[in-house]
Amino acid sequence: MPDSPETRVRIAPSPTGPLHIGTARTALFNYLFARRQGGTFILRLEDTDVARSSLAYEKDILDGLHWLGLTWDEGPEVAGQAARGPYAPYRQMQRLPSYAAAADRLLAADLAYRCYCTPDELDAERRRLEAAKLPPRYNGRCARLTDDERRAFEAEGRRPAIRFRVPEQEVIAFDDLIRGRVEIDASALGGDLVIVRADGNPLYHFTVVVDDAAMAISHVIRGEDHLSNTPKHILLFRALGHPEPRFGHLPLILNADRTKMSKRKTQTALAEYIEQGFVREGLVNYLALLGWSTGTEEEVLSLDELTERFDLAHVHKGGAVFDRERLEWLNGQWIRRLGVDEFVDRLQPFFEVELAGGRIDRLPTDDELRSLAPVIQERLPRLGAVGELVGFLFVDRVEVDPAQLVPKRWDRAITVDGLSAARDALARHDEVTWEADELEPPLRGLAETRGWKAGDLFMAIRVAVTGRTATPPLFDTLVALGRERTLARLDAALAALGS
Ligand code: GLU
Repeated sequence: MPDSPETRVRIAPSPTGPLHIGTARTALFNYLFARRQGGTFILRLEDTDVARSSLAYEKDILDGLHWLGLTWDEGPEVAGQAARGPYAPYRQMQRLPSYAAAADRLLAADLAYRCYCTPDELDAERRRLEAAKLPPRYNGRCARLTDDERRAFEAEGRRPAIRFRVPEQEVIAFDDLIRGRVEIDASALGGDLVIVRADGNPLYHFTVVVDDAAMAISHVIRGEDHLSNTPKHILLFRALGHPEPRFGHLPLILNADRTKMSKRKTQTALAEYIEQGFVREGLVNYLALLGWSTGTEEEVLSLDELTERFDLAHVHKGGAVFDRERLEWLNGQWIRRLGVDEFVDRLQPFFEVELAGGRIDRLPTDDELRSLAPVIQERLPRLGAVGELVGFLFVDRVEVDPAQLVPKRWDRAITVDGLSAARDALARHDEVTWEADELEPPLRGLAETRGWKAGDLFMAIRVAVTGRTATPPLFDTLVALGRERTLARLDAALAALGS
């Protein structure tokens, strides 16, 4: 049920850093809203901060959004390449003439003026206000210059910035799609606003409005950190004679300690999550629930299922705490849902990383991974945890710490006794009977006859053959290792214990 007029939303990242998890969430909410409404999802790159923008960041952002599956209907194609859509170009640095034209219109209507104050003068004024414990605010010195005064400044070689006139007394109100009625007093906006710098560079508040107007954006959905910018934008929309879009401000994402999400306390770059083996289905699912809920018990939802259910009315107002454990849990749910071939395909690159890091000695074959899948697929919170889980299967020999070989309730002598008895019991099997349900009963029987707790015996065997205390179930592990390697590793462990 398309809204009228057409629903057009956008994500407008600045390529001044890698794709941030918060930007990914904003993109997702815009995407879900557009798809739900049968509208259009637009990507626009806000790259006017030339000093801090880079093509590498641009590529990271575009790749990350593609990886998540958030395809845009209009926007730049790939980094540095052609755009698609009726409002191209979608990079702000390619739209400079439109900002200049809009600034000229505001100047001609006296809704903006040239300001000749130098950075030093503005600084001195800022310090004066600070000393007087007053909020920063432009003093309006250039707001009513005569032609003569202007010429005199030009003659001094001063280059003007362009300032937009902000009314002194006016309450700017809007109905936020998430937060309800918001009213902000224009006097709190810091006075007349620079929209174009003296060097000719247009600034964010200006370019964002010129573009949202030009691209017929119907709903601006963005983070709550932009809430205080919105009244400035509304004034600019009005001055440009363009109807305002609807605004919706998404709750902030918080660190575990409820402070605003920061790199120092929470991993923020999407690329790092990808590197650690989060799958797109898990991340999309988690990000959707970061500040929104279905209103039901449903948690594990695909992009399509999220689209069917998405509703801005159920976006929360309060901050959303980033919960890494919940993310890993959801990610694990999605790893289990992968078909076995897909699982193997996605897992192989993580073994390549293990190999490159020298933590394994060879890559598993696809067949090996297919037969391991039933044991490991349900145990991985992240694909990148696979080395920890089963790397010992692909090393020539395991490093075993003799101290770790001895279970808590045992001493060295019992351990030697236990491992050699276990070795003898296992050696009685040939390759044909080397199956989990064949190996287990004799070892349980052995523990019982000798009065050992089966858990202690199994732990000693586990450490001996894997070098670790946590592994997939022991008998599946022995089967995956095979008879020969199991017996050889038991021998090596006995040797390490000096037997
Ligand atoms: N370039 C701005 C940012 O990255 C866009 C904000 C907006 O959506 O208006 O924060």
